[in-house]
Amino acid sequence: MLGAQVGSFFGVCIHRLPGGESVVWPRSHCPKCKAMLGPAELVPVLSYILLRGRCRHCGERISLFYPAMEVGVGLIFLLIVMGRGATVGTFNYLVLASLVVVAAGIDLGHGVIPDRLTLPWMVVGVAAGALGGLREVAMRMVGLFACGGLVFLIALLSRGGMGGGDVKLMALVGSFLGPWGGLASFMIACFIGAAVGIALMAAGLKRRKDEIPFGPFIAAGAIIVCISGTWVIRLVFPWLGQVGF
Ligand SMILES: [Zn+2]
Repeated sequence: MLGAQVGSFFGVCIHRLPGGESVVWPRSHCPKCKAMLGPAELVPVLSYILLRGRCRHCGERISLFYPAMEVGVGLIFLLIVMGRGATVGTFNYLVLASLVVVAAGIDLGHGVIPDRLTLPWMVVGVAAGALGGLREVAMRMVGLFACGGLVFLIALLSRGGMGGGDVKLMALVGSFLGPWGGLASFMIACFIGAAVGIALMAAGLKRRKDEIPFGPFIAAGAIIVCISGTWVIRLVFPWLGQVGF
């Protein structure tokens, strides 16, 4: 329920952040007739179904994007809590999943990832390591620089394949998941990215030279690690088990 509710808010963020608009003001309104939405119109998914996908005041169609975000984020939150347990530490993964979902949505629509979503939150990610002790803070710092540095190198060498937004997004993932979780996320992201790229080319939807934003794949990799944790990291780096990870 919490996931569906914040998913609704993330839909607003994805629409408003790229234009530098405030995400809290003005309140949610119909884009056509500007009517403010009342509490009964702000219940995730249910409102959309009851209103049959139309504005109550002018009948304008409401984009399916909103209920899709509500269902999607609701499911991601549910899977993370099921995978990690309902503990304080799980907040770490809920916050990271939230940030990468909004970043992926904006990257898909606009081809950029706003710094507001990455830079300040890296500090939060590293600082939140304090819950696990000083060693965890240090590991997250290493994660930040290892993941950001790796994508920075790839961006330099590939000239255009990945951009500064991807570097900062990956550094953010490292600051929350540490070096191994972060690098495992990146490997999974590359794997999914390659599979989707090949599928899009086979379907004739993209050509070899077309650019596909990489942010959504970074998000997918990070969310998979957030949900499944240690076993998926060991699957990517099998030798980690031997060194006591
Ligand atoms: Zn309306």
